[in-house]
Formats: sequence, C-alpha cells, structure tokens
Amino acid sequence: MAEFDNIYAESNPFVRAHFDCPQCGGKLWEYAIQGQMVCEDCRNPFPSEDIFDEQAKR
Ligand SMILES: [Zn+2]
Repeated sequence: MAEFDNIYAESNPFVRAHFDCPQCGGKLWEYAIQGQMVCEDCRNPFPSEDIFDEQAKR
C-alpha cells in the first residue's frame, strides 16, 4: 500500500490569498484542496482561476 502523505493534515487548509472578493471586497482565502477561494465576509466560494482572470484584467 502506497504511503499517503496528507500535506493538509497538519496545516491550515486555508491560505490567505492576496486578492479581494469580487462581490464585496472582503479578503479571500485560498482553499488549497479544492483550488478555490472563499471570501471571509460573504463566504462565497470562487474558483481560483476566475480570481486570477479577474485580477489580470485590472
Ligand atoms: Zn465577499
């Protein structure tokens, strides 16, 4: 049986992203497991790709 290292087991799965929520301007937290970000204010999840695209337009 292959050894499985869960890199998230001992660390907080949420990483503070340097992006703002496109809806309310709150801080976004990157949820590394799902490849998505969650706003700490409105709790809306956003795909990381969408956020990167949004930031690239500015
Ligand atoms: Zn928000």
